[in-house]
Amino acid sequence: MSQTYDIGIIGSGPAGYTAAFQASAKGLSVVMFEKDKVGGVCLNKGCIPTKAILHSAEIYEELNSCESIGICAENISFDFAKIIEHKNQIVEKLRKSLELSLKNAKVNVVKAEAKIISASEIEADGEIYNCKEVIVAVGAEPRDFAGMKADGEFVLNSDDVLNLTKVPKSILIVGSGAIGIEWSRIFSAFGAEVSVVELAENLLPLADIEVSKRVERIFKSRKIKFFKNTAVEKIEDKKVYLNNGEILTPECVLVAIGRKACEISKVEGVTFIGDACGAIQLAHYASKQAIEYVSGIPFDKSLVPSVIYGNPEIAWVGKREQDLDDGTYKKSTVLISALGKSHCDNSTEGFIKILSCDDKIIGAHIVSKEASAMIQELLIAIQNNISISKLKEICFAHPTYSEGIYECLMKL
Ligand SMILES: Cc1cc2nc3c(=O)[nH]c(=O)nc-3n(C[C@H](O)[C@H](O)[C@H](O)COP(=O)(O)OP(=O)(O)OC[C@H]3O[C@@H](n4cnc5c(N)ncnc54)[C@H](O)[C@@H]3O)c2cc1C
Repeated sequence: MSQTYDIGIIGSGPAGYTAAFQASAKGLSVVMFEKDKVGGVCLNKGCIPTKAILHSAEIYEELNSCESIGICAENISFDFAKIIEHKNQIVEKLRKSLELSLKNAKVNVVKAEAKIISASEIEADGEIYNCKEVIVAVGAEPRDFAGMKADGEFVLNSDDVLNLTKVPKSILIVGSGAIGIEWSRIFSAFGAEVSVVELAENLLPLADIEVSKRVERIFKSRKIKFFKNTAVEKIEDKKVYLNNGEILTPECVLVAIGRKACEISKVEGVTFIGDACGAIQLAHYASKQAIEYVSGIPFDKSLVPSVIYGNPEIAWVGKREQDLDDGTYKKSTVLISALGKSHCDNSTEGFIKILSCDDKIIGAHIVSKEASAMIQELLIAIQNNISISKLKEICFAHPTYSEGIYECLMKL
């Protein structure tokens, strides 16, 4: 027996569920297939669980250094198994809420692996679903190191690491992208000896060069060891061989070298969105793609903000300094330590840097507490072509980190 829908969506991550909500709001009938847990990687294995653990790490770190601000906290300890349990509770709560919203939106969620039969047919659990349109939002999965599969014990991927019940004494993290940086921060906050190996010339290679340099400084201050321009040659008998001749013997290795699109047959006439496209693999990019496709609201793909969480946060949007020719742009930088609020918060690390051309902002790079919020302020200005002269007319509240943006603008 076959069922008929306006739209069939494979995958229930941010791309899939956003497409489902948009389609349902337009009065279309929707069936969505999920082979694992509703919410996709973002909710179950990515954005949300890592940030929940990071929050515990930050609190632990802060409590361990709060004497100078007059807080006496003695015998601070942590229970990592409980931290993971707390993370699981958050994920479960959000998943239930998402499932309820999908139900209310009358999206038929089929919990099964789906196969594309044709541009208008999906098969799942032996049943054929006829869909006027098929959207593929199957996401991506961790890339293995040189064909070596993560064993979940010595070699971990970003899924395995979420379920550790104790903090390893030492860990080697391969890759210093967003996932590598966030986990370095988590493990170092909990007292693990952390080393990071990065193939590129700089840590966080997709960031502006000054941001990468600042990450190095932060790593040094936290005693996180790092190797740049270095490759892992092989992992054998619990030993990690680097191409600089060093042999490391960490308790475990986290491979964070990127993610590859999940495999599914490509059929003409079927639309791919989200991580499955292999372009920008971010949750907000995935959901914007869904909105653009289903509801026709476009967005500027060159203005997608990047945020790395932890203390301090790192965020950027637009052009990086290393991509611009000398003399074609102006630059203004303000140190976070110049802001009163940063001293009140005991969080003086970082800077705000704005790059401009012809009285318009072309790039913004922030290392600071609240960077994730501040980058949106700048993005609104960039995307709407608001001139720097006009932005200077805005009254920024005091004391805030945003005042740093104002200081930067005033210097341009
Ligand atoms: C550790 C980590 C941290 C991250 N942190 C952030 C962050 O802070 N901010 C951010 O923006 N992004 C972050 N990301 C990236 C973010 O999770 C992804 O960009 C986002 O989940 C992509 O959404 P999606 O809908 O395209 O795919 P996914 O979320 O991967 O969802 C795809 C779904 O499709 C299902 N599926 C696959 N094949 C089939 C099939 N044949 N049949 C049925 N179902 C199928 C999968 O089980 C999965 O549930 C992080 C990722 C990781 C791994």
